[in-house]
Amino acid sequence: MLKDDLEILLKVQEMDTRMDEIDAGKADIPKQLEGQQAALAAARAAAAEVKKASDDLLKARKLQELEFAAKNADIKKLQEQQYAVKDNNSFAAIKHEIETRKTEAEKLEESILAAMMEDDNFKKKLSESSAVVKVEEDKLKQLEAKCVEDGKKLDADIEIVRKQRNEEAAKLGNAALLAKYEEVRANVGGLGIARIEGSNCQGCFMNLRPQEAIDIKKNEKVIFCETCGRILCG
Ligand SMILES: [Zn+2]
Repeated sequence: MLKDDLEILLKVQEMDTRMDEIDAGKADIPKQLEGQQAALAAARAAAAEVKKASDDLLKARKLQELEFAAKNADIKKLQEQQYAVKDNNSFAAIKHEIETRKTEAEKLEESILAAMMEDDNFKKKLSESSAVVKVEEDKLKQLEAKCVEDGKKLDADIEIVRKQRNEEAAKLGNAALLAKYEEVRANVGGLGIARIEGSNCQGCFMNLRPQEAIDIKKNEKVIFCETCGRILCG
């Protein structure tokens, strides 16, 4: 009976739809990772920023250390000159010069010491920021593992539904009808068979001609919706 076959086909379609939904859920899984991937990227960027600031500070300190050494060399040279001069004016001028250099050298030394202390702070910040990166990496790994498990579960769910679907499809007396249903479903998407409600196709919600609605109820032959091409069932 055509009516029986159409009802079976509607059940087959229910399970096909269920499989599509599970597939869509599976396709959504990678999106669950996006938030955690962003959190990890942010943690890595923050750690890189701390590292750069630390490197910059170290570079600046190295330059100051060179400058400090140069100042001390100058002072040493000036002191030698000071002992060699005979007149008081020159002696006083060099003395003044030495004092100026000493003040500059002291300032440099203070700045170097401050940078050393700051460097200790940076070491702490660096280890904190790499700990944060590690936490976010672990979270991502866990989430990835969960996604793999979720994917496997959905695969198993699909196989269960597929088995039921194929068992149902095997009950069809009309193999050509199943092939047609699959063809329409592939072409139109979603539904391959639609019920009619009153004189409305429930696939595209367009009105059927009155005679057509009557013919469908008779279940004498397969009738397709003139608008969407779906198999119609009364
Ligand atoms: Zn239609």
